[in-house]
Amino acid sequence: MLSIRNRTEMAVFVVLASLAAMSSSSILASATYELFRPVTERANLLHIIFITALIAVPIAFLLALHSMRITRYQSELEDLANTDALTGLHNRRRFLELLPQEGEDARRTVIAFVDLDRFKSINDRFGHAVGDEVFKTVAGRLQAFRPALSAARLGGDEFALMIDEGDLASDPASIVAPVRREICRPVDTSTGRISVGASIGLAVFPDDAATPSELLRAADRAMLRAKAGGGGICRFTASLDAEATDEQEIEARLRTVITSRGITPAYQPVICTATRAVVGHEVLARWTAEARGDAPSPGRFIPIAERVGLIDELFWSLLEQVLSGPAARAPDGVIALNVSPNQLHHDNFADRLATQLVRHKYDPSRLELEVTETAMFRDMETGIDVLRRIAERGVSISLDDFGTGHSSLSLVRQLPLTKLKIDKSFISPLIWSSHSESIVSATVSLCQALGLKTCAEGVEDERTFLRLQELGCDYVQGFHLGRPNPVPAACDAPAQKEALKAVAAKTAVLARKLA
Ligand code: C2E
Ligand code: CA
Ligand code: CA
Repeated sequence: MLSIRNRTEMAVFVVLASLAAMSSSSILASATYELFRPVTERANLLHIIFITALIAVPIAFLLALHSMRITRYQSELEDLANTDALTGLHNRRRFLELLPQEGEDARRTVIAFVDLDRFKSINDRFGHAVGDEVFKTVAGRLQAFRPALSAARLGGDEFALMIDEGDLASDPASIVAPVRREICRPVDTSTGRISVGASIGLAVFPDDAATPSELLRAADRAMLRAKAGGGGICRFTASLDAEATDEQEIEARLRTVITSRGITPAYQPVICTATRAVVGHEVLARWTAEARGDAPSPGRFIPIAERVGLIDELFWSLLEQVLSGPAARAPDGVIALNVSPNQLHHDNFADRLATQLVRHKYDPSRLELEVTETAMFRDMETGIDVLRRIAERGVSISLDDFGTGHSSLSLVRQLPLTKLKIDKSFISPLIWSSHSESIVSATVSLCQALGLKTCAEGVEDERTFLRLQELGCDYVQGFHLGRPNPVPAACDAPAQKEALKAVAAKTAVLARKLA
C-alpha cells in the first residue's frame, strides 16, 4: 500500500496526483473526441478538456485526502503499538526494538530495570486512580532523567531506562542513583502525598547479555536481587543467573515436597518477659526433605510458594502436622502459625480452619494466626471479615512484623487483634539506637492503651532482653531465648515457673544496674 510519512511527501503526492489527473483527463478527453468525432466536430475541444478536468481533479483530490487519512491512521496505530497508553512512555515492545543487538556496531549501553516497592499496597489502599497518578509522575521523572536515551513502562509497576555508553565513564550504579532519589521523592496526588520506593537492577550490553531480551532479563534478575535486599540498586552478575536456575528447581519440586510433607514445622519458643516462662511457640516452615546444608531456607521457598500459589497448601499441610504432633498434645501453650496475604482472601478460609480444629479436638484459644499489614491492604473488607470470623471462633490474631509496613493505627483499630509483634529490625539495635528505643517504647505504650499484648522478635542477647523487660514488652522471641526446633519446648510447668521467677527477680536487679 502507498505509504506517506510526512507533509513534504504529502505535498509532492498531491501535485503528482493532480498532474496525473490532468494528463489522464486530457487523454480521456482526446479519446472521447476521437470516439464521438461526428458529434463533436462542432464542439470545442478545449471545452471538453475543461469539463473532464473539472471531474478528474476533485477525484484526484479526494483520493489524496483518503490516502492522507489512511496514513494518519497508520501512524496512530503505530504510536499505539509502541506507547504505553497511561504514561506516554515507550512500551515493552518498542523498548526491546530500541535495545542494541548482537553483531550490530552498537555502543556499550546500560539497561536499568526499575520496579516500584510496595506499589500493590498503594493501589489497594488508595485505589487505582491514585495509583495511576503515581505512575504518571514517576514516568515524568524518568523521562526527565537526562543521561537516559529512552524510558519505557514495561507493564504494571515496572519501568526501564536505556543509558548510552557516553555516560558510562563512571560506575553505572552511581549514574542511576539520582534517578532513584527522584522516583522516591513524595508524589502529590489527589488524596495527599504518597511515597514509593524503587528497586533498580542494572545490566550492561554487551558484557552481561548479547540480545535485547536477555539483556532485559539480566536487569530484571538484578532488580529482584535488589528487592530481596530491601530495595536499592544492584548490578547483574553471573551468580544471579545460577540463583535463577536454583529458583526454577525449587519451584519444580515444591508441590511434591509439600504433599509428601517434606516441609515440616519448627517451633520457636515465645517467652513471657516477666517470668521467662515459655508460653507458646511460633511455627516456622523448614524444608527437611534434604539434608540441612542443601535445603532452601524459608526466605527462599516461601516467596516462591506465594508466587506459584502453593502457600495455602503449605499452610494446611503445616497445620495438619502441628495438630497431630507433640505440641498439640501438650496441655497448654499457644501455637502461632504464619498466614500469607493471599490466604485471607479465600472466603472459606475461616470455615476450613474451624473444621480442622474440631476434627483434631483442638482448643481454638490455643491457636494464634500471625498476619502482616500488607496482607490486609490487598482487599481490606474481605480480610477484616475473614479475620473477624476466625476471632469469633476463639482463635487469636497477631499483627506480624509491625513497623516494617505502613504501621497504620486505623488498621490496628479495625482488626480483632490480641497482639502486636515488633519487627526484629527495631529490636537488634535497641541497646545502642535511641531511635529504635523510642519506637519500641511508643509501640508498647500504644498497645497498652489499646489493650493489646506486645511481642519483640529477634532478641539475641541478655541486655536486649532486660531492656525489653523494662520497657514493659509482654513477650519475647529470639535466638537468645530459644531457636526454632523440631520439638517444642515444655510450656509453663509449675516447677519451671518457680525457677523462672527467681531468674526474673535476678534479671530485674541486673537490669537496674545496667540502666
Ligand atoms: P517471621 O514470621 O518474622 O519469623 C521470624 C523469623 O526470624 C524466622 O526466620 C526466625 O527463624 C527468625 N528469628 C527468630 N529469632 C531470631 C533471632 O534472634 N535473630 C534472627 N536474626 N532471626 C531470628 P525464618 O524461619 O527464616 O522465616 C523467615 C520468614 O519466612 C518468617 O518471618 C515468615 O515471614 C516466613 N515464614 C516462615 N515460615 C512460614 C510459614 O509457615 N508460612 C508463611 N506464610 N510464612 C512463613
Ligand atoms: Ca511470624
Ligand atoms: Ca515477624
